[in-house]
Amino acid sequence: MASRLPLRPPWGWAWCPAPLCPPGCPPSRGLCGAHLPAALLRTRPFVGGQWMPADQALTFDLAQARATFPVLSPGTGAHLARVSDCGAAEARAAVTAAWQARPAWHRASAQERSRLLRRWFDLMIQNKDDLAKIITAENGKPLKEAHGEVLYAAQFLEWFSEEARRIYGDIISTPAQNRRNLVLKQPVGVAAIITPWNFPSAMITRKVGAALAAGCTVVVKPAEDTPLSALALAELASQAGIPAGVFNVIPCSRPKAKEVGEALCTHPLVAKISFTGSTATGKILLRYAADSVKKVSMELGGLAPFIVFDSADVDQAVAGALAAKFRNSGQTCVCPNHFLVQKGIHDAFVGKLSGAMKAQLRVGSGFDEATTQGPLINEKAVEKVEKHVRDALSKGATLVTGGKRHESGGNFYEPTVLSDVSTDMLCSREETFGPLAPVIKFDTEEEALAIANAADVGLAGYFYSQDPAQIWRVAEQLEVGMVGVNEGLLSAVECPFGGVKQSGLGREGSKYGLDEYLEVKYVCYGGL
Ligand code: ADP
Repeated sequence: MASRLPLRPPWGWAWCPAPLCPPGCPPSRGLCGAHLPAALLRTRPFVGGQWMPADQALTFDLAQARATFPVLSPGTGAHLARVSDCGAAEARAAVTAAWQARPAWHRASAQERSRLLRRWFDLMIQNKDDLAKIITAENGKPLKEAHGEVLYAAQFLEWFSEEARRIYGDIISTPAQNRRNLVLKQPVGVAAIITPWNFPSAMITRKVGAALAAGCTVVVKPAEDTPLSALALAELASQAGIPAGVFNVIPCSRPKAKEVGEALCTHPLVAKISFTGSTATGKILLRYAADSVKKVSMELGGLAPFIVFDSADVDQAVAGALAAKFRNSGQTCVCPNHFLVQKGIHDAFVGKLSGAMKAQLRVGSGFDEATTQGPLINEKAVEKVEKHVRDALSKGATLVTGGKRHESGGNFYEPTVLSDVSTDMLCSREETFGPLAPVIKFDTEEEALAIANAADVGLAGYFYSQDPAQIWRVAEQLEVGMVGVNEGLLSAVECPFGGVKQSGLGREGSKYGLDEYLEVKYVCYGGL
C-alpha cells in the first residue's frame, strides 16, 4: 500500500532542504513550495475540465511519485513542487477532450467567447500578486518583472476578448450574374500549443487568447521548468467558466517532451501547432506537422542586433540597451544578442554602458526588492554563457565588466560586457540567452547591415540614430520581423510579434494573431 505523506512537508524535509529554506524562512522570499500561493498551486494535468486523475493537492502519494517530476527554484535549487509527468496517453486524452469541446465552443456566439475571455482576464488581474510569485519562484525573474509579465499576459486575454467580436468575412463582387461569392472565417480546430519557460504565463495567453477567440480549443504543453504558471492559469480558466475541454494543460518532464510533442503534433485530430522555443525543436515539430499537413505558427530563436550609429543619442542608446539586453537576465528571444557600435561613438557607448550596468543592475534573489537580475534558468544556461565568454576571450575580445559566475553561486551570472568582439566568435553567431553584451566596432552603415543580415534568423533588431534618412533606410533593410528604432522595448499586445528567416512562421498578438487560428472558406452560392 502506498504511504501517504503531507504535500507540504515540515521544514527541513527532503524536498524543502533545510539550508535553503530553514525554519522561519520568510514567506516573501518564496524559497520553497510551502510558500507558493496554495489557492493557485496545482500539480495535476487539467483535461476536460478536471484535474486528472483527481486533484490530490493535499496529499503526496509515493506510488505516484514515479510519475511526477520536480519543479526547481532556479535561484536556490529547492524543490517547489512535484508535478504529474504526462506521456503520450495523457496527450491523446487531452486532444480527445479538446475535440469533443470543439463544436460547442465554435457554435458559441462571439459575444459569449469574448465574455469568458474577459472574465479570465479579470481573474488574472485579481490574482496578479499570486501569479507573479509563482513566476518568480519557478522562473527566477525579479518579482517586479513577474508582475509586468502577468499584466502583459492578461492583456492578451483582454485584447483577444475584444478581437473575438471583430472577425469578418467578405462578399466578393460576382463574376457571374447568377452567383454570389462569399468568404467565411472559421476556426481551424484543435490547436496543440507548446511553450517555453522564459515567459511562463505570457507565451500561453498570447497563443490561447487568439485560439479561443477564433473558436479553437487547445491543448497546452508548458515548459518543464515552469509548469506551475500554466496550471495556475488553468485553475483561473476553470473559475472563469471556460467550458470543459476548451483549455487543457498537460505538463511533462524534459525526457517526456519528445513523446508528448510527437503525440500532439502527429495526432490526426490536431489541426494546428503553435510553438515558441528553439529553432532546433521548431524544426522537429515542423517535420511532425508535415505528415498530416497541419497549420503551424513558429516563434523561434533570434540573434537580435543592436546597432548604435554615430548620429545616436548615446544616453538614449545606453538606456535602451540596458532595458532590452538585461530584462529576464538576457533570456528573451528579442534580447539583443550583440551590439554593433560605430567607431565614432564606440568608446563613449562602451564606457557609459558598463557604468550604467554597475550603477543600476543588482544580481540576487527575484524575491529581493533591490534585485534587477535574477538567476539564469538552469546550470546548462550558465554553462552556455561561460562558453561564449571563454571563446570570445580566447579569440581576442576584451573583458570590460563581469565575465564570471556571480558570487551568489548557483545559476547566477554577472552582467558582462565584452569589447573588441569579432564576427567569428560564438557570441556573434549563436544566441547566448544570458546577461552578456558583446560589442563589435564597425565603420559604415553598409558594414553594420551586412553583419546584422548575415544571420540565418531574423526576429528583432534595434538601432539608434537621429538621422531620419538613415532611420528609413535601416528600418527597411534589416532582415527581421520587428524593429526597435531608438527604442529597446517593443512588445505590445496590439502589435504583431514574429520573425523572418529561421526565426519562424506567422505572427502573434495584434489583429494578425487571430488569422493564425482561422481558415478562409470560400462559398460560391449559385443558381440565383
Ligand atoms: P529551451 O532549450 O529553451 O528549453 P526548447 O525549444 O528545447 O527550448 O523548449 C521549448 C519547449 O519545447 C519546451 O516546452 C520543451 O519541453 C519543448 N520541447 C523540447 N523538445 C521537444 C520535442 N522534441 N518535442 C516537443 N516539445 C519539445
